[in-house]
Order: sequence, then structure tokens, then C-alpha cells
Amino acid sequence: MHVKKGDVILTVIILLTALALFIAFLSMPSQNITAVISVDGVVKNKIVLTGLKEPITLKYKNLGYCNIVQAANGKICVESADCPTQDCVHTGWINRAGQTIICLPSHLIIKLEGSNGKNIDTVVG
Ligand SMILES: [Zn+2]
Repeated sequence: MHVKKGDVILTVIILLTALALFIAFLSMPSQNITAVISVDGVVKNKIVLTGLKEPITLKYKNLGYCNIVQAANGKICVESADCPTQDCVHTGWINRAGQTIICLPSHLIIKLEGSNGKNIDTVVG
């Protein structure tokens, strides 16, 4: 098969364009991170972390345990807890969609969801 020089250059350009788009997609700042905080499987709070001006401190009490949750711009953590394992505290700050903090003793789950800048609550039509 005869490969023309122009074809090679075109292929390289296409590959570089695809790579550039991929990098742009990865570093896209438009994705809003929302923290979904649930206790016993019931959603208690939904906080949009992206662009949060003032840090928020939230307190959750369940099954005799207390979790102090700190939310800040683009990130969230369990600041302190009186559960025996302390796994939730040791997880530290999370800031990417799909990450979770789980406190097994108190049934607390903090999950981060990305919205890609779209409002999923908006119904078009
Ligand atoms: Zn815990």
C-alpha cells in the first residue's frame, strides 16, 4: 500500500486535534461538583461545592454517633467524628466526581456528583 506524505501529515493533525480536545475535556472547569450527603440511605443535603464562597460546617447525628462535615469551594471532608473506626475522617478531602466518604458506624455517605455544568433538574419541553 502506497502511503502519501500528505496522508501522514493529515493523520498526525487529526490525532493532535483529538489529543488537544481530550486534554481540554479533562481540564474543563465547567463541571460543577455537588456533594450528596445521605444518612441511612436518605438524602439529607445536596451542596454545590463548586464556587462555594464561604465554608459550611454541617453536623449529622445518627445511631449515637456524630459527624462534623466541612464543605468548602470544590471539596468536602468529614472534619471530625466520634465513630470508633475514624475511616471517614481519615479519608480527608474529596474533590472529584465519583469519590465518596463513608462512615459505616453512623451510616453516613457523602458522594460527589459532577453535573458537567448542566442543570439536571431542568426539564426541556
Ligand atoms: Zn466515621
